[in-house]
Amino acid sequence: MAKPKIAPKPRAKKRAPARPAPTPRGVSARPAGAAHRAAPQLQTPIDTLTYARGKIRDVPDFPKPGILFKDITPLLADPRAFHIVLDALAEPFIGEHVDAIVGIESRGFIFGSALAARLNASFVPVRKTGKLPAAVDRVAYDLEYGSATLEMHKQSIPEGAKVLVVDDLLATGGTAVATAELVRRQGGYVTAFVFVIELDYLGGRDRLVPVPVVSLLRYRAGE
Ligand code: AMP
Repeated sequence: MAKPKIAPKPRAKKRAPARPAPTPRGVSARPAGAAHRAAPQLQTPIDTLTYARGKIRDVPDFPKPGILFKDITPLLADPRAFHIVLDALAEPFIGEHVDAIVGIESRGFIFGSALAARLNASFVPVRKTGKLPAAVDRVAYDLEYGSATLEMHKQSIPEGAKVLVVDDLLATGGTAVATAELVRRQGGYVTAFVFVIELDYLGGRDRLVPVPVVSLLRYRAGE
């Protein structure tokens, strides 16, 4: 019996292997410092941020007349809002190999430690003077009236570590600048500053450049 003819399989066209786009002469594929400078993008949908924002309570004239205090305790009391905030703050840094989160006393401890657990990074507290038990590095910084001191245990940050500085709120930026100084003194590298709330009108962000600033809920004057 004659063998049935089997139509030969059409040959798959050979494709040229994918090549990366050529880099123009004299231009490096990743600009120097790009990993450090590129501002991380927040991906959280607006409506969930609106939900979280609704959990910030304004307390006028606390701790002194003229201050509008942004109280985060209703947000902490609401698991959905707390999750939204933590997810949003962690998202830009997933896969970025953050070594340590430095949290600023006291509300920076709440967000910073939860973030450290999510990012598989160590948590390092920065405290007001006299609270840490072992040997400390210390930095003094100016407040509106007078000055304050922050401390961090010596040898908290390994040389060359990638660090996020975390606090609940960015106002004038003095606290964050002082904390970054402690990190740098120990040989760490501040990759970004991370805040839940930013008071835009106080200009704190301008004191932190060129390090990227991630803040979730931004307020203008009178808000
Ligand atoms: P600053 O050093 O001016 O950026 O102040 C930031 C620190 O002060 C943070 O630890 C905040 O928790 C706290 N802070 C400043 N202003 C406010 C405010 N209006 N509401 C709540 N906390 C504030």
